[in-house]
Amino acid sequence: MMTPAWLDKVSFNADGLIPAIAQDKQSGRVLMMAWMNAEALTLTAERKEAIYFSRSRNRLWHKGETSGHTQQVHDIYLDCDADVIILKITQIGGIACHTGRESCFYRRLDTDSDTPTWESVDAILKDPKDIYHQATNTPPAPESTSNTQTDAHARDTTAILAQLDAVLAERKAADPDSSYVASLYAKGLNKILEKVGEESVESIIAAKDLDANKGDSEARRELIYETADVWFHSLVALSWFDISSDAVLDELGRRFGLSGIDEKAARTPSK
Ligand code: AMP
Ligand code: ZN
Ligand code: ZN
Ligand code: ZN
Repeated sequence: MMTPAWLDKVSFNADGLIPAIAQDKQSGRVLMMAWMNAEALTLTAERKEAIYFSRSRNRLWHKGETSGHTQQVHDIYLDCDADVIILKITQIGGIACHTGRESCFYRRLDTDSDTPTWESVDAILKDPKDIYHQATNTPPAPESTSNTQTDAHARDTTAILAQLDAVLAERKAADPDSSYVASLYAKGLNKILEKVGEESVESIIAAKDLDANKGDSEARRELIYETADVWFHSLVALSWFDISSDAVLDELGRRFGLSGIDEKAARTPSK
């Protein structure tokens, strides 16, 4: 891997690591802390997605690799003595913590009390069993079908799409060198459509591969990843025409209210 010049300014500890704090770009809330080695930091800067170094697993850790809760990196800051990194991020899925909470820092010391305790200040938005079941190919736990879980799912899904819409709208006006999406907009509609096609083909290949290697969690992850690529680039294409994901959700919701036959009949003849 090429070592960029800017990496010389970064002071890694004796183990070759630097602490990286992920902070929500919008709210300013500190979401988590993890470690990076030189490779993780370089990849994070290149891909604009948080890639850490997991000390427990002793390997690179692409945050969200099993949960899908990746972190989109807007800016990378270095502190005065170059030994702490802050990432300004958008947390996809709204959950940074593996306990299913928005932030890892969900415990607050209740110092006003005579006998201070750590009180939890965050709700669990998603059951951890539900977040990580994909990694082991086991179905989600039965309790995840309770009403509260269903609500949490619904909130989660629309939140992701709303976040995506907001990010896409912002990137439209952004400097093409500042982000991948901004560079797509700058290259124009044909480039965006080319990506939609390319990612569709990749997702088909991934599905065929999963079919050939049934039960392989890597192949399963690949299909999920490529499908996310397709969805994402379709939304970029829509946003080119200032159409939001809401319009698509409305259309899907409308079809829900109709039977398949009614739906076909209701379509305009041109489709
Ligand atoms: P993820 O990167 O979210 O797909 O999670 C992959 C693995 O990292 C899982 O085993 C999680 O338990 C763990 N993990 C995820 N998020 C965190 C976090 N904020 N702090 C520590 N471990 C995490
Ligand atoms: Zn410092
Ligand atoms: Zn956590
Ligand atoms: Zn892809």
